[in-house]
Amino acid sequence: MLAPWPLATVLLFPTKTMRLVFLGPPGSGKSTQAQAGAARWQIPSISTGDLLRDAIATQSDLGKQAQTHVEAGELVPDTLMVGLMRESFGSPATQNGWILDGFPRNLAQTQALDTLLQIMGQLYGQVVYFETPEDLLIERMLKRGRQDDSEDLIRQRLQIYNDQTTPLIDFYRRRQCLIEIDGSRPESEITDEIASALQPLVSV
Ligand code: AMP
Repeated sequence: MLAPWPLATVLLFPTKTMRLVFLGPPGSGKSTQAQAGAARWQIPSISTGDLLRDAIATQSDLGKQAQTHVEAGELVPDTLMVGLMRESFGSPATQNGWILDGFPRNLAQTQALDTLLQIMGQLYGQVVYFETPEDLLIERMLKRGRQDDSEDLIRQRLQIYNDQTTPLIDFYRRRQCLIEIDGSRPESEITDEIASALQPLVSV
């Protein structure tokens, strides 16, 4: 007997759930690309920076605790960030995939993410790393003019990125799930490059 068509469809066009981490320095364009990917694959992009800025604007408990750290260009403590991620993954919208933009940012958060996903029975597929030269990052951030984009704070955030986040590049490279993208190219070219690098992974 023929399989009912939904099953036949699944067999003919199996799709893989996209679970992606976008990794890169501030100003590398990863948020813009996370939004483009979210629209393309119809999955939520979870931006910890945006969530924190919203929390600060509404002065929620998280916002009050995070504010001084964000304004000083420091990392918000891991316990707060892991709580925020746990809450984000609790949303039904994340069941069919997600893009993480801005998390994890250090090795402790990387381990916490592994644990969270293990508990949920999920695994991320790929980590997209936006390699971008520092002078271009500074130029882009100064143009962006966000409150934490003064030259001092930019340098502080880049320093923290270099110290705490760059070890993740090797960590994921060793795990063989790192896709390296040249973040200095024009936005539309990067969008195309990501789409073609990941498209084969959408269908298996
Ligand atoms: P972003 O918009 O990703 O550049 O984040 C803005 C600010 O939010 C950062 O400078 C940090 O203060 C804070 N932040 C965002 N994501 C994280 C994270 N994963 N861990 C700690 N702090 C974070």
